[in-house]
Amino acid sequence: MRGRIQGEKSRSAAGAGRREKEEIMAIREVREIGDDILTKKCKDVPKMTLRTKILIGDMLETMYDKCGVGLAAPQVGVLKKIVVIDVGEGPIVLINPEIIETSGEQTGEEGCLSVPGKWGIVTRPEHVKVRALNQEMEPFEMEGEGLLARAFCHEIDHLYGQLYVDKAEDGLHDVTYEQDEEEETEE
Ligand SMILES: [Zn+2]
Repeated sequence: MRGRIQGEKSRSAAGAGRREKEEIMAIREVREIGDDILTKKCKDVPKMTLRTKILIGDMLETMYDKCGVGLAAPQVGVLKKIVVIDVGEGPIVLINPEIIETSGEQTGEEGCLSVPGKWGIVTRPEHVKVRALNQEMEPFEMEGEGLLARAFCHEIDHLYGQLYVDKAEDGLHDVTYEQDEEEETEE
């Protein structure tokens, strides 16, 4: 998922996590809308393997490189239930995630790295609780509100072949850069 569509002030903070990683990671190609893989359902991850660890590292690197706040495995062409998220509070890895509780409602802008240059208005729950496995394949639960709750929903939708564009209430809009910081400082 992309956050802060119209002004990207949180980007440098979101990138902080990657510098702590010592492994060499690779940026993968992000599949875009129209690619069949984005409409397919993902399989559970049965056990942690080196290959899956590398995939998770690459997903984080790719998310930070593209200034996203979330990325799901099918977006890099892998039909496994893996999601990475960073809404500016450090990386979150969810393996085989499920939403187990929701409450409230929020309506706001949403974008997706697989739908470049576009955004739409989507209504999501304000509070979301997920259950998932961590990288050690240990179960945990996590609660999120606001942007994190939105990211949980958006990314888990990807694992079931669903894109936000089908939930956008007023169609898709082009991203404009009129309000970028650079232009503001020029004035
Ligand atoms: Zn997305």
